[in-house]
Amino acid sequence: MKPKVYITRKLPGAIIQQIQEKCDVRMWEEEEVPVPREVLEEEIKKVEGLLCLLTEQIDRSLLEQADNLRVVANMAVGYNNIEIDEAKERGIIVTNTPGVLTETTADLTFSLLMATARRIPEASDYLRNGKWETWSPMQLTGQDIHGATLGVIGLGRIGEAVAKRAKGFDMKVLYHNRSRSQDAEKELEIKYVELEELLKESDFVCVLTPFTPETENMIGHEQLALMKKSAILINTARGGIVNEDALYEALSNGEIWAAGLDVFKEEPVSLDHPLLTLPNLVTLPHIGSASIATRMKMADLAATNLLKVLEGEDAPNNVT
Ligand code: NAP
Repeated sequence: MKPKVYITRKLPGAIIQQIQEKCDVRMWEEEEVPVPREVLEEEIKKVEGLLCLLTEQIDRSLLEQADNLRVVANMAVGYNNIEIDEAKERGIIVTNTPGVLTETTADLTFSLLMATARRIPEASDYLRNGKWETWSPMQLTGQDIHGATLGVIGLGRIGEAVAKRAKGFDMKVLYHNRSRSQDAEKELEIKYVELEELLKESDFVCVLTPFTPETENMIGHEQLALMKKSAILINTARGGIVNEDALYEALSNGEIWAAGLDVFKEEPVSLDHPLLTLPNLVTLPHIGSASIATRMKMADLAATNLLKVLEGEDAPNNVT
């Protein structure tokens, strides 16, 4: 008998077919609407495999109902939506999709950095709203990217790929991790510094750590106060790493110059969120990995992870 699997969102046909060949598949058929919690709670009781997105909270109360579950294949590299300790305790394997999205997310991180520094969305609106009446010396002026100092907090796969891009812009790159990477330092000619020094010295600060209890609110009032008044904060990791109240204050009081966010604590962010009122904030709806090719690779890798575990083999990307 084929193992039973639930997929929490409509995936590309080729990926579903690949899973259907080996599994008895049920799926939430919507593309733009997440599976309701009560549906997931019912489905999880029946299946051995779950392929889910970061929009699903795979928490203790859900896992308690999952008597037959053997694998949760997350279609994301970050897996803060899953209670890993609970899964481990229950012998459920959790997998993610690292690597295949690295370059695409680094492209988006650098795009957001550039769009924020050069006020691209604001300038585009300026034209469309009929405000462009003349060329003037300081109109819509931003910050230079070339030759500036970039500080990467969390120099892992994506952080390194961002650092490589920065080198092409003649930027000086500083980084901070819990552990040093001597290889990256040599290869990319970048410098390890403590967090405080990174915040003080950088013109651009990019947050690229995972979201963990340790990184939650890692960038708050104290950290933002250390940054230059001309500095720009970019967060393409997870919303909870930057304290949004503190960021609102820093941006409105001119403690930092601007910020670019691809991620929020609560997603989708509410339209009455105070941050959205600020002209010096550039925002995106969590599209770091959103290229057609990369989303296909992520779905394919999630499917491979799922099938490997169900076939009793080692999953390539087991995080438990
Ligand atoms: P990764 O290779 O694991 O890199 C994470 C880096 O963060 C590591 O170098 C790690 O180094 C560092 N780190 C972890 N905890 C830290 C701490 N407490 N303080 C300082 N540094 C810390 O992961 P990745 O593939 O680059 O992905 C990074 C994150 O980006 C993911 O977890 C995900 O949440 C996010 N992401 C977002 C999008 C998007 O669409 N916006 C797309 C992809 C990924 P040490 O262990 O030495 O500290």
